[in-house]
Amino acid sequence: MKRVFNFSAGLAMLPQAVLEQAQAEMLDWNGSGMSVMEMSHRGKEFMSIAAQAEADLREIMAIPANYKVLFLQGGASSQFAMIPMNLLRGKTTADYVDTGDWSAKAIKEARRFAEVNVVASTKEGNYTSVPAFETWQCSADAAYLHYTPNETIRGVEFPWVPATGDVPLVADLSSTILSRPVDVSKYALIYAGAQKNIGLAGLTLVIVREDLLGETVVGTPAMFDYKIHADNDSMYNTPPTYAWYLAGLVFQWVKQQGGLAGMAAINQRKAEKLYAAIEASGGFYNSPVAANCRSWMNVPFTLANAELDKPFLAEAAQAGLTTLKGHRSVGGMRASIYNAMPEAGVDALVSFMQDFAQKNG
Ligand SMILES: *Cc1c(COP(=O)(O)O)cnc(C)c1O
Repeated sequence: MKRVFNFSAGLAMLPQAVLEQAQAEMLDWNGSGMSVMEMSHRGKEFMSIAAQAEADLREIMAIPANYKVLFLQGGASSQFAMIPMNLLRGKTTADYVDTGDWSAKAIKEARRFAEVNVVASTKEGNYTSVPAFETWQCSADAAYLHYTPNETIRGVEFPWVPATGDVPLVADLSSTILSRPVDVSKYALIYAGAQKNIGLAGLTLVIVREDLLGETVVGTPAMFDYKIHADNDSMYNTPPTYAWYLAGLVFQWVKQQGGLAGMAAINQRKAEKLYAAIEASGGFYNSPVAANCRSWMNVPFTLANAELDKPFLAEAAQAGLTTLKGHRSVGGMRASIYNAMPEAGVDALVSFMQDFAQKNG
């Protein structure tokens, strides 16, 4: 068996220890004689798995008691609609920050339900920076403010949290959740598709302050109503049980890494090594992103000579470093280095990049 270092932006690598535990428990979970995949979601075995996963997440993120944790389906993309459906609460306007492709998608979907006020946009600069908070044109009566703390495609990450006062703050943490500590109490709602930093596709986490629930727009389907999911402990319908179980294994693994503070130290070190290699290449490699908002999770970079892109990718794959091609809308390269990317993977990439630059520079 030979495993590669997979730099995919999502689906993405999982911690090897988690895969090994899932493998060991595949046919017989904890003496139940069943795979987790075969269990009733309402049986005592799965109920214990579900409760433990939530308890571990609450512990590692220090989620206050007045927040609900929902284990939903539909991906982060469904949240783009569920957020206005649930959080407009009689208002008509919602504020959105436009810092990249995912912000733009969230805005487009919200426009079905709300008058969207784009408080700031970095589109003109090709989405390579974070707009200074002082420049935001917030509306007087917004139901909430939505932003994307880490833009997965262009690798732009907010180094600060907007202080929106009484306006509920909503964040798409899909590609940065669990990478560093967050103060959940600053947010009204946090959501994340699981397939980047949590586990499997098919699970979407929502962490929401409970006083915001219960007032949906007319016609909201039951499956899109947070309160119905909250009142049913995310079992209003059949939940994505295996993805929920696997998320639980990842939460335990994060605890073993020293929780979010431990993860942050490792992630910062990994990111700094990679950005340092780009900077030290004398212009052979370049980062398009402003220095104050370079993502710890997604590191796009270009080669000064784009004709070397293809050989770079081919030789990297030969060396066991895969899925480094940049998003089709950006070009160049992108190394996604989520929690599960071992530091040895970043070290291998850095030394490959140095060798490649030496040979071709
Ligand atoms: C991947 C991603 C999404 C889309 O997630 P789906 O689960 O595929 O709907 C949304 N927002 C961000 C920031 C992402 O990285």
